[in-house]
Amino acid sequence: MANDMICLDIINTMWYDYRGTGKSEDRLTNPKWIEYFMKDWNLTHLSYPSDETIKELQNLRQLMRDILQKTTQNQLPSTDELMKLNIFMDKAKRSPVLIKKEDHFELELVSDKQSWSTFISEIALSFSELFTKNEYKRVKFCKNEDCRWVFHDNTKNGRKHWCSSDTCGNLSRVRKHRDTLKED
Ligand SMILES: [Zn+2]
Repeated sequence: MANDMICLDIINTMWYDYRGTGKSEDRLTNPKWIEYFMKDWNLTHLSYPSDETIKELQNLRQLMRDILQKTTQNQLPSTDELMKLNIFMDKAKRSPVLIKKEDHFELELVSDKQSWSTFISEIALSFSELFTKNEYKRVKFCKNEDCRWVFHDNTKNGRKHWCSSDTCGNLSRVRKHRDTLKED
């Protein structure tokens, strides 16, 4: 499933310091990160994104974060938000292709050619699939309010709170421990 969740990668290009320094970075505006992302997303054959493309990615990211602010509070996205998401999905032409899997068939939507527009529509598509596959309820913000990292909780009981137990989970344990010491 991880591969299908390119939307989470984009959402997390807005980085907040989990240690609570108040620092944040929009990694979409950092050329070093863009180069890294392009490798990671297999987009090295494309040219560096234009300012307009970056702006579009930022707008889509904001829309997805806004929608998740709601779904994580047990609210549903508005009609207006869905319309905006549909416009992003409509940026590339796709054709349905029937694919034979081991024990079943799947219909996949395949884009004509790779471009930034195709990529943007694929992000919106992967976000929409969270809803059609009913996985959106497992997409959460890290419980550390300084962090705001978005992750998919793939644990059995669906009770994961932290983006990572090494960073935010550990920080919470340390803080709790410190509070206990103060109280003593
Ligand atoms: Zn975190």
